[in-house]
Amino acid sequence: MTELGLFLVLFIALFVGWVMGRRRSEKPTKQELKTISSDYFRGLNHLLNGQQSEAIDAFVDSLEVNSETFDIHLTLGNLFRKKGEIEKAINVHQNLLARPDIGEREMRLVQLELASDFMSAGLLDRAERLLLNIAARKTEFQAQILTLLIDLYEFEQSWDKAIRISEQSQKAKPSVKEAQRLAHFHCELAQVQVKKEQWKQAFTHFRNALDADPKCVRASVGMAEVLCEQRRYRDAIKELKNVAEQDPDFIPVILPNLKDAYQRVWSGSGYHQFLVEQNKDHSSASLILALAKHYAQDDKRFAEQFLIEQLRIHPTIKGFKELIQMQLSESQGVNEQHLNVLFELIDQLTKAKHKFQCRQCGFSGHQLHWQCPSCKSWGSVKPIHGLEGE
Ligand SMILES: [Zn+2]
Repeated sequence: MTELGLFLVLFIALFVGWVMGRRRSEKPTKQELKTISSDYFRGLNHLLNGQQSEAIDAFVDSLEVNSETFDIHLTLGNLFRKKGEIEKAINVHQNLLARPDIGEREMRLVQLELASDFMSAGLLDRAERLLLNIAARKTEFQAQILTLLIDLYEFEQSWDKAIRISEQSQKAKPSVKEAQRLAHFHCELAQVQVKKEQWKQAFTHFRNALDADPKCVRASVGMAEVLCEQRRYRDAIKELKNVAEQDPDFIPVILPNLKDAYQRVWSGSGYHQFLVEQNKDHSSASLILALAKHYAQDDKRFAEQFLIEQLRIHPTIKGFKELIQMQLSESQGVNEQHLNVLFELIDQLTKAKHKFQCRQCGFSGHQLHWQCPSCKSWGSVKPIHGLEGE
């Protein structure tokens, strides 16, 4: 429904609400009727002129708060918040709370909306106090209250508090999405310990993250980093290979560390087998290039043939660039000059291309973010696949 459509529906709902409210109460005086009608038509006039904020103001004025019009006022308040007019949203919601005959359920509903208003206004202390107050009463809105509290602590980066509430929420009502978020909160704490080089504590936090969400790629990558620091390369390899099971889209991210870990324990043997196996089902430019480089150590011609075959099945600009580089090492004279120009062009092109993209909102960049800087979802930024990526 378009925003204008929504306003029109609200406008009709207001009118129905007003008529119902009138029917139940005593007959309005002529003066009352005149005031209500003029506010109502003032609202309609604003709506038709595209002045939506003024239209909502007029509608709010036109309708007294009673049990029939409660939902409409609540919706109008939320509309103000969504339009960024937080002060008006707070006014509408506080006006509802001031009703002497407000029921317990209605009061909690309004408090929940008011807490969202406070959060949008950046009044985090007030939002937290209100939410903790309602949470203590264990109402039917407990799940929504806990989610808002988690949002609030996430925004504040109060990871300990976010973890405590998130675990409470998971116990009451398990959710895969919330479990993924909880795992990232543990990873955030782990990162703090990594910076301090407190490997043991960092390990525990990554372990907790994997307990919350066994598919958390970030926890496995982080844990492998800690294990490498502790020179436990065999365990690091196990953890990095786990990423291929958790989410094969992330294989290109782990290859440099995996190669390094393999070289330290088994002089690289085993790494080649992993590349071959993964390239069968989850082919990517990084896997193909790693294999081509591996073959080039013994037989350059074979490596070149392999790369050409793979590019036919899985064409990528990165692969094409590698092929030109291989050709360059064997060229001379004019051919070398031409290939150099081509290589420079493709090199510029690949450098300009973003490597990572959020699967939720489409945000892209050169760096891997575990929380999307744009839509704030966790674990949704992944390596870009296809012709211009992997
Ligand atoms: Zn995003």
